[in-house]
Amino acid sequence: MHIPDLLAKIADEVADDIGKGNAADYIPALARVDTGLFGMAVAELDGTVHGVGDWRRPFSVQSVSKVFTLALVLAREGGDRVWDRVGREPSGDPFNSLVQLEHEDGIPRNPFINAGALVVTDELAAATGDAAAELISFLREESGSPTITVDEEVLASEAAHSDRNRALAYFMASYGNMRTPVPEVLDQYVRQCSITMNCAELALAGLFLARHGIRNDGTRLLERSQAKRVNAVMLTCGTYDAAGQFAYRVGLPGKSGVSGAILAVVPGRCTVCVWSPGLDARGNSVAGVAALDRFTTLTGWSVF
Ligand code: GLN
Repeated sequence: MHIPDLLAKIADEVADDIGKGNAADYIPALARVDTGLFGMAVAELDGTVHGVGDWRRPFSVQSVSKVFTLALVLAREGGDRVWDRVGREPSGDPFNSLVQLEHEDGIPRNPFINAGALVVTDELAAATGDAAAELISFLREESGSPTITVDEEVLASEAAHSDRNRALAYFMASYGNMRTPVPEVLDQYVRQCSITMNCAELALAGLFLARHGIRNDGTRLLERSQAKRVNAVMLTCGTYDAAGQFAYRVGLPGKSGVSGAILAVVPGRCTVCVWSPGLDARGNSVAGVAALDRFTTLTGWSVF
């Protein structure tokens, strides 16, 4: 399969979906982004990247950061400790929902909804002092882009509209499931979401998941079984309460964010990052899901 031709074909086929849906509006800085943008990049195992459309245009990574934070915690701890504090089941509820926490003693359903990501950030913050700095340095190394940083405007905008995440964090703290003071965890969580990258950089940064845990410099970040588990949780929980639909249409581990980004992994072959800011009702990119659907249909590269 000639990947540049494939990407051109996909961009053509999803043209009618680009611009559909709405940009996230609960973070004002994200609401201003043009929903007519669309970019897609494929990174092969050797680091070759192909792209189409706005694949070099930076955007806020938002919840796609949650995959990397989890990987860094697993790499650092090397064991199962974090799973005492966060589950591995799809929630079937929106990504920022509070409802299950009360029934489950402050243990979030999975690491890819906001409650779970706050716990994982807390775990990394408790170990390193600064989860966001740890994450940024990892993303810079893996993508080969030393200038990757936080978008201060998005950061300020999100920090000013964090009541829901603050409520989640304090609620979990009331069950003893926060180790770092809540304001600090919240600050580091919002920083991670506000990191700005483009499709090529995100696809490159995620390659360790396609390489069964091996980083771009050839060293191992995760054991093979740990990488398999991160991919499994992405498949079952990475697109919130649409994970079943995403598995049905796309058939790959994937993690979405409210900026309209989705990072998908084809284990043993490549990563794909797609970005288009128009979201469906569940907070996933309309054109992004459509493009990944076309990608796996045209290539046959799905995990099923
Ligand atoms: N920063 C966003 C939030 O915390 C991330 C959510 C998302 O991308 N789904 O609400």
